[in-house]
Amino acid sequence: MVWQTSPSSINVRDLLETLRGEPLLGPFRLTVFCLIEGAEASRAGSFELCASDGGTSQCTQACDVARETAFKSAISTGKPVIFRCPCNILNFAVPFHTSSSEPYCLLAEEISVSFVVPADQTDSQASQDPLVITPSRGGGMERSEAERIAFKIQRLLPSMIQSTLAVLSLEKTTQRIKTLTDISAEIDQVETSDEVISLLCETSAILFDLTHLSVIFGEPAGNGFVLKRVVSWPGESVTPVANKIAEFLRQNSGGKPVQTREDIEILFPGTTAQNAVCVPLISGDMAFGLAAFFEAQFHPRDLLLLELLCAKAASRLLILKMRREHQQEAAFSTRLVTMISALSLLRKREEVYQNIVEMASELLDATCGSLMLFDERGENLQIESAKGMNLPLARSLSVKVGTGIAGRVAKSGFPMVVNDIEKDRRTASPNRPRFKTKSFISVPLKIKDRTVGVLNLSDKSDQGIFTENDLNMLTSFTTQISIILERAASLERADMLEKLAATDALTGLYNRRYLDERLEEELSRSTRHSLNFSLMLIDLDNFKIYNDQCGHIAGDNALKKVSSLLRSSARDIDIVARFGGEEFMVLLPDTGKKEATFVAERIRKAIESHPFPREASLPGGKLTTSIGVSTFPDDGDFPSSLVNAADIALYQAKNQGRNLVIPFTRQANKDNIVFL
Ligand code: GH3
Ligand code: MG
Ligand code: MG
Repeated sequence: MVWQTSPSSINVRDLLETLRGEPLLGPFRLTVFCLIEGAEASRAGSFELCASDGGTSQCTQACDVARETAFKSAISTGKPVIFRCPCNILNFAVPFHTSSSEPYCLLAEEISVSFVVPADQTDSQASQDPLVITPSRGGGMERSEAERIAFKIQRLLPSMIQSTLAVLSLEKTTQRIKTLTDISAEIDQVETSDEVISLLCETSAILFDLTHLSVIFGEPAGNGFVLKRVVSWPGESVTPVANKIAEFLRQNSGGKPVQTREDIEILFPGTTAQNAVCVPLISGDMAFGLAAFFEAQFHPRDLLLLELLCAKAASRLLILKMRREHQQEAAFSTRLVTMISALSLLRKREEVYQNIVEMASELLDATCGSLMLFDERGENLQIESAKGMNLPLARSLSVKVGTGIAGRVAKSGFPMVVNDIEKDRRTASPNRPRFKTKSFISVPLKIKDRTVGVLNLSDKSDQGIFTENDLNMLTSFTTQISIILERAASLERADMLEKLAATDALTGLYNRRYLDERLEEELSRSTRHSLNFSLMLIDLDNFKIYNDQCGHIAGDNALKKVSSLLRSSARDIDIVARFGGEEFMVLLPDTGKKEATFVAERIRKAIESHPFPREASLPGGKLTTSIGVSTFPDDGDFPSSLVNAADIALYQAKNQGRNLVIPFTRQANKDNIVFL
């Protein structure tokens, strides 16, 4: 057995301080000892006065034996022991217990303060130092008085210990509050949710000396709760069930700590812990998750501190979330403005539709998308543009209004977000093989309040599901593009009208009016850039005879066939037009005479070699053409002079027997002044 002063489990100095305030103990020097069971007995040095009230003991080592005997007796009987040590000092030992299991003993040694002059000092020395404190051995207090005090002190000790402990825990709590204040300031500084969670874990573990705690962190999504991060908990690492956590958070929306025993398996499947204190991480209407402290007993005061810490963490999480959303919204708005202005610059409706699909896919990070519009009768939806699927194939698919997801969205005018196409009771259909994921989003496209089509997106690049937030973004986008869609529809009508105005009804080639405009444009462009260009005038040979012999309808068919041969024999950049009757003109931008003659020859051959019905009755037995070619600037610098030049060359070709290509030359011009 070792007697030792024990400042560890109870703050002995605080207790001595309290005892010191008790007037009854005024004449005593106080020390507290603690009995440590199982330690090897050793007397030497076991009475060090490290937890005394600060006075100096007058006892010698010989007194230790008497004290040890007194302590043992006091502890075994539970009663105070009053004794005189070999130095003849009146002592008493009072046993007591604190909340820890070790027994304690208070030792009180009688002292008396007097001006007693020690034997080896003179009066003059004493008068120079009148405050020398010397114990008066054997004098002073009666044993019975000491006994009375000892018993009284024993009665008072429990409440003194309590008040000491209260002071102690107040100090501890003050310290914890201070730490919390510091940590709160730190939480206010961190910039990510992960840092908030880390600080929450570290702080609670250190403040409350915890070994097992976990934070389950997520965010509400739609009607559910998506887990984002789980810090470990005791037991197997099984992921907690998100909807159970969500339910717990719904039931405990006040953010108060909750003792969990029966529900622990439901919230934390696979845990080996028997109980946990769960504190919801809730701020405003937002529930972020919960902090769980396993196998821990908390004083109500500490629960309050935990609640405060968790509330602080949750409020920071909310600020970060709002800040993130604000930044995303700002970035989204900027992106939207850029997209809409890019869309409004597009002139072709196909481009508009394709860009709408591309932009919407980019906004929602989708890899597949399609834009569907009502057909003319408003019965079916036709894919106009698509991403992530074969467009010609997609165009061949049509969806009946009212059936399938897109068909229903088109009919109702309301958007649809499907998490799992196979499980959603609205759809409940097997996932189609061309889609990688089962999540799908479909929104109506409206011009004013009229639904004109549907925009569909699927297959997020991270294979995730489409969320409410995605729907909001897409709806903002489609609302903004309403005016663009309106313009695209009018572009479509304008395109059609323009095409009608620019084309010849019989052959589908450009008409004379359009040709004249393009000729003017080509002339000024070539003049500006010092380029040359050519034109060819094409006239069917003996077409009157063909008409007369085969009939007008056969003549029309021959004209149509010639038109398609012209189109296929000319180059993409060339403009092929019907000049009038059985005459055609081809405009060849950036083309010199040699090259133009080459193209003309190809055209002549294509017509000559094509088998026209009943052409055998024509002179030469074939339907042929004569072609005159002129080139800017060599043969003229006005449209009329260039056309004239080509006409002169054509006339020459007719003169030379037909079925010929003749490029214009100055000599030919001299011979044929008749056309000028
Ligand atoms: P040449 O070799 O000298 O050009 O003789 P040609 O018979 O082709 O010339 P001409 O100008 O005498 O006759 C042109 C004929 O083209 C007259 C008309 O019957 C026919 N034609 C013109 N426009 C059309 C049309 O739109 N449809 C049909 N079927 N025939 C047309
Ligand atoms: Mg003619
Ligand atoms: Mg002719």
